[in-house]
Amino acid sequence: MYSHDVLVLGAGLAGMRAALEAAKTGANVAMLSKVYPVRSHSNAAQGGINAALTDRGDDWTDHAYDTVKGSDFLGDQDAIEVMCREAGQELINLEHMGVIFNRDEEGHLGTRAFGGQRKARTFFVADITGQAILHVMFEQILKYNVRVYDEWYATTLIMDGNRCGGVVAMEMRTGDIHAIQAKATILATGGSGRVFEPSTNALICSGDGMSLAYRAGAPLMDMEMVQYHPTTLKGSGVLLTEGARGEGAYLINTKGERFMEKYAPNMMELASRDVVSRAETIEINEGNDIDGCVLLDCRHLGTAKIMERLSYIHEISLDLVGVDITKDPVPIRPGVHYQMGGIKTDIDGRCWDPNGAWKGVEGLFAAGETACVSVHGGNRLGANSLLDTVIFGRRSAIGAMDYASQNSHLNFSENDWVNGEKAKLQGFLDNDASGDLVAKLRMDMAVAMDKGLGVYRTEDGMQEALQAVQGMRERFKKVVVQDKGKSFNTNLIFALELGCMLDCAETIAIGGIERKESRGAHSRTDYDKRDDENWMKHILLRQGDGGEVTKEYMPIVVTQWQPEERKY
Ligand SMILES: Cc1cc2nc3c(=O)[nH]c(=O)nc-3n(C[C@H](O)[C@H](O)[C@H](O)COP(=O)(O)OP(=O)(O)OC[C@H]3O[C@@H](n4cnc5c(N)ncnc54)[C@H](O)[C@@H]3O)c2cc1C
Repeated sequence: MYSHDVLVLGAGLAGMRAALEAAKTGANVAMLSKVYPVRSHSNAAQGGINAALTDRGDDWTDHAYDTVKGSDFLGDQDAIEVMCREAGQELINLEHMGVIFNRDEEGHLGTRAFGGQRKARTFFVADITGQAILHVMFEQILKYNVRVYDEWYATTLIMDGNRCGGVVAMEMRTGDIHAIQAKATILATGGSGRVFEPSTNALICSGDGMSLAYRAGAPLMDMEMVQYHPTTLKGSGVLLTEGARGEGAYLINTKGERFMEKYAPNMMELASRDVVSRAETIEINEGNDIDGCVLLDCRHLGTAKIMERLSYIHEISLDLVGVDITKDPVPIRPGVHYQMGGIKTDIDGRCWDPNGAWKGVEGLFAAGETACVSVHGGNRLGANSLLDTVIFGRRSAIGAMDYASQNSHLNFSENDWVNGEKAKLQGFLDNDASGDLVAKLRMDMAVAMDKGLGVYRTEDGMQEALQAVQGMRERFKKVVVQDKGKSFNTNLIFALELGCMLDCAETIAIGGIERKESRGAHSRTDYDKRDDENWMKHILLRQGDGGEVTKEYMPIVVTQWQPEERKY
């Protein structure tokens, strides 16, 4: 049987940073990914990564305050302090690994402004920051000879009672099922943006890790907090980076008005994402739209700046909607972008509390978008996610190595786990042709979620979406997998991903119905105010023994910033 001290699921930035940290100490570590590592969604990050550098006149406490305010006071301030305090050193680490960040005229690392922040502290590589960092990180993974199971799909966590002992996974090339033993397992499996349509996320962002942890008994926290990004392209929902507005682009309606003047007179287009997405939705609903879109206007930035710093979105706009952004404004609308909620972890990535204050899964760690530490609370600031991946990727590896040094492998029968999984997969293959196709069911789910849990929500709308999703769970049991083959059966993989997305969809809807207030991205027209008296708390959802969803609450950690009214 394959066996490691630390097994990292996921090869995006969180997974690579974790694996690298473990590999540097000589630990027996491996990384497993359903796609070739550099195809992970981190590769698509455009705008940049935040850090407050003291020698640039910035201060980590200012970054932390902006993050707390951005989170609408739902973020845990101890975790936010850790992230912002460690950001500067981690940014320099990335530079030393070889990331060629843009520089300013004096030759210093260059910054651009990003939403919800009073200072320009976003470091960037044109509008391909994620690609630049991910490729450099992968060079390090190769340099340290980390074992990579690439194009392996993890299907189940191996459990004994409350303890995780590794994972069952399919080698996609052969279709063979294997058990991989690990003293500590780190989930770095990314977000769940494809639960909605339209979405900026890659098709692979199907919330697999959240679902694996949830099925194993770990709680999911604040799942209702789903971020809509204000500038996604008409039709496809492909992202146009916030960096465009950071460089000075405007948002205008059909009357040519810079409408953000009405909604956020100080920060304008650089108010936080929830605020800008709501403003756009109001403009669209009031009829100041073209085909359900408002416009992003970059023309005044000039061709030279656009081609130097925003050439990628220039290319996408031309290719996908035929608009040359140096000459015309481009139609955009809010689209789903990021899951602030996820697997509850502490600041060292643990998915359980060693002191027993909350129950989770021992031996399991999580980092990156799949985790909820929680540093983003009700709304993530742009460019804080790449930061989250590297800070908590590294910290979870340290936590996992510590755990692995004190615990032995779980004893289990490889055959039992492998055969159990084979039987489950065969169940899908044996479904007759009368059920839904995977693509149809996925689209029905994603459209229902966008309708019921969009930028503005109501009790009735969320209930309707929940019922639709629960109905789809029944339809899912009969889902049709037409490809019966073994090698690269992507049809089967899509079905498994859909099962994970349905877990995420259900918990997002239940969390949304439960939180009877408006906070951050969760904006209800029937409870339109933030309610600090009753809702300064996290919602934890857990799968009961009979598959039912149980709810718990945890207080928000407040260190130095008391809740106050949030204005931009
Ligand atoms: C278009 C776009 C632009 C963005 N721009 C920015 C930005 O400029 N700045 C910023 O801070 N944030 C940005 N974000 C957000 C940020 O990029 C992501 O939150 C972050 O990269 C997630 O990293 P991750 O390591 O957690 O997961 P990912 O990079 O998504 O990696 C997930 C990994 O898990 C693996 N995996 C998943 N499920 C399984 C399974 N079942 N079995 C095996 N492997 C599995 C995948 O193969 C993959 O390797 C952007 C996001 C998008 C979609």
